[in-house]
Amino acid sequence: VDPLWEAGLDVVRTLEARGYQAYLVGGCVRDRLMGRKLNDIDIATSAKPDEVMRTFPRTIPTGIKHGTITVMENGIPFEVTTFRRESDYSDGRRPDEVAFVDDLQEDLARRDFTFNAMAFGSDGEIVDPFGGQDALRAGVVQCVGDAEERFGEDALRMLRAVRFAAEFGFEPLPDVWEAILRHRAKLSQVAVERVCAEWDKLMAGSGPEQGCHYLFKSGLLGYVKESLPAGVLHAAERYRLNGTGWEWDAWGSGEAVGGQGASLPPLPLYADVDVRWTALLCGIGVSSADAAELFRTLRMSGKRTDRVCSAVGLHERMAGCPEDERYEQWVLGVLDFGTAAAEDWLTATESVDIELTDLCRGWLQNIPITEVSALDVRGDELVKELGRSPGPWIAEMLRGLLEAVAFGVIANIKAELLDAAKQWLADADGRK
Ligand code: ATP
Ligand code: MG
Repeated sequence: VDPLWEAGLDVVRTLEARGYQAYLVGGCVRDRLMGRKLNDIDIATSAKPDEVMRTFPRTIPTGIKHGTITVMENGIPFEVTTFRRESDYSDGRRPDEVAFVDDLQEDLARRDFTFNAMAFGSDGEIVDPFGGQDALRAGVVQCVGDAEERFGEDALRMLRAVRFAAEFGFEPLPDVWEAILRHRAKLSQVAVERVCAEWDKLMAGSGPEQGCHYLFKSGLLGYVKESLPAGVLHAAERYRLNGTGWEWDAWGSGEAVGGQGASLPPLPLYADVDVRWTALLCGIGVSSADAAELFRTLRMSGKRTDRVCSAVGLHERMAGCPEDERYEQWVLGVLDFGTAAAEDWLTATESVDIELTDLCRGWLQNIPITEVSALDVRGDELVKELGRSPGPWIAEMLRGLLEAVAFGVIANIKAELLDAAKQWLADADGRK
């Protein structure tokens, strides 16, 4: 017994008691049949929005134009939407107008995929006019009606098809895949925020590898409304044209591996989605500049952008670094990008090169300090002890001291730090 599901059925029964038809619909019915955790409950009803608002004490007119009212019961939101049909999609994005209908079947017919077009009644019956349960059993993504038409109406559905296929480990049916290939240019009609939300959901889900495979293989990324950076498009395109397997060129050198033209990195299900993004971007050899531009274009938050780009920057530093310079580059990289980025990078790449990441992890543990703030001397103390007026030399000096301590050349003890600083100044003056 799932309390959320039961609470949804209570909302259905309340509507029925008023003489309306009502059903649980869409994702929650699908997830329930699949034994997946429910995230939210959608309800379809013959009641018009104002009637829904009159039936429940606490409602929010969330999307009243489209017939959607949020009903709050015991602090839980339920999206209650009047049966509707969608008429013309003149711009391939949004129906021009919403027409309410009396019939559940018609409401189900406007939905995207057969497994999303099922309803569940208070009598325990599943209404499944398009074979959604068969699709679940067969493990396929199947459109309600003609795939060409459905993607032509709403281009976002192509990304949803990819996301559901990845999430459930399903195959898109051949007609679905071919319709994506034929309509992919229409992705330019979808707001980048929506693209980002779908891609990010895909990354956070249970099949990010498969999801990226479909995303790259379909060529969809080439048609995002605002061009993605060349490094990302290039990787996607190489994969689309040549990628046949999952072999990975460990450092994203862009070179063929074992005769393969391109490949994707392994994307284990790290708890943190930003580590998954890091693994992907490092794996396909995207520069930190391109990673930053990608996230900016997708309107990803500045905080997440900085985090992922720091780890990708560290990767850039380590990629192709000659073996005898690795230690030095690693320590400097940790100082430049911070220990959080180092940890992210280690997690994101250990499944690819455990030997190197083990080595780096050991080195990381042995770095005495990684930040200027941890030095046993402050800028104002340097000014006083060295008898110089403040200037940019302070930051340089602190960084120099940090490096010396990090590499184990001097101890993090005030007297030693000041001695070293004095010595450096004397040397510098001597050179003039
Ligand atoms: P999840 O919430 O796990 O992402 P979901 O199927 O619940 O999956 P929602 O975006 O919450 O997805 O949409 C709820 C339902 O609305 C879907 O199950 C589907 O029936 C319908 N739906 C959503 N988006 C579309 C769309 N672009 N075209 C047609 N039907 C859609
Ligand atoms: Mg949902």
